[in-house]
Amino acid sequence: MADAVRAVVMTGPGQPLELRRFAAPRPEPGGAVLEMVASEVCGTDVHLHHGRLAGVPYPIIPGHINCGRILETAGALHDVEGRTLAPGRLVTFFDVFGTCGECWYCLVAKAGTRCPKRRVYGITTSAADGLLGGWAEQIELKPGVKVLPIPDGLDAEDFMGGGCGLPTGFHAVERAGVALADTVVVQGSGPVGLNAAVFATLAGAARVLVVGAPAARLAAARRLGADEVLDITAVPDPAARVRWVRERTAGRGADVVIEAVGRPEAVPEGLEMVRDAGTYVVVGQYTDAGDATINPHTHLNRRHVTVRGSWGFEFTHFHRALQLMARHARRIPWRELVTRQYALEDAGRALADMEGLAVVKALLRPAI
Ligand SMILES: [Zn+2]
Ligand SMILES: [Zn+2]
Repeated sequence: MADAVRAVVMTGPGQPLELRRFAAPRPEPGGAVLEMVASEVCGTDVHLHHGRLAGVPYPIIPGHINCGRILETAGALHDVEGRTLAPGRLVTFFDVFGTCGECWYCLVAKAGTRCPKRRVYGITTSAADGLLGGWAEQIELKPGVKVLPIPDGLDAEDFMGGGCGLPTGFHAVERAGVALADTVVVQGSGPVGLNAAVFATLAGAARVLVVGAPAARLAAARRLGADEVLDITAVPDPAARVRWVRERTAGRGADVVIEAVGRPEAVPEGLEMVRDAGTYVVVGQYTDAGDATINPHTHLNRRHVTVRGSWGFEFTHFHRALQLMARHARRIPWRELVTRQYALEDAGRALADMEGLAVVKALLRPAI
């Protein structure tokens, strides 16, 4: 076993990434060490590099959605079904850990994503605490981290093609309560929007319309099953985009609209796209990008609309989304969302390509 491993360190907002050597990790009792196969470069990592998230303990090793092979365990490691996970097994893991199960949010509200003790690999873990991010040759799994085997028939590319957007989009669709034969509009064609479109279809939507850009992402939306797409660069007028939705819904608007854009002005536009007594879910406003103006009378009260936020995801979403991927990956080409794979030393380029929307999804792979 190597006695030193390389990892990409984000030392602070706006600082160049550094490739550093760390002592090879050994698992704590109940924990494990993975040999990394692939780690996602996600929009969150772009936000991290701009310092847009609060409470990030720089320097960090980014990489919160990961796929690796078990290298070593300290004691038996099991999945949620009680199966033993042995060295060599291809796995992923729930990036959130430390959720306490004891606080008001955990116990009373049953809203684990709002637990103040919650920590996230690659986001709220400092490089000073070890290899707790996936942009590395190895990663350390703390005791209690929930490990999921990649289901038979899927490989690392399938899973990573879904990536962070897979459980996030799944959660948003669950929050939307999509009903059989609904018309669903997804605003945004990034990984979260694309996965929301997929799961809206799997949830029984009769029609899924995706409003986004650029063209390559809209083409991906079509391949993943979206019925129609609207390129916002071709139709820059929000009122015209609302008309486009209403023309396809007998003038009513969509039953469900899911916002996965991240720009505040998408919200009043989306509320115009939803029908009276419909549902609007906001999942894209992951960082504070500012305010938007809505009209409480027309957008909320008279529209009789249900508006829901969707923050992060819980283990249940991760687990169930992965089972659905295993069932449908032959038909739904998640793996094609991986546009480009980069070596660890090219992490800076991967981040720049992600920010510039030059790729749908970028992966870091230590072995290439
Ligand atoms: Zn808690
Ligand atoms: Zn992410």
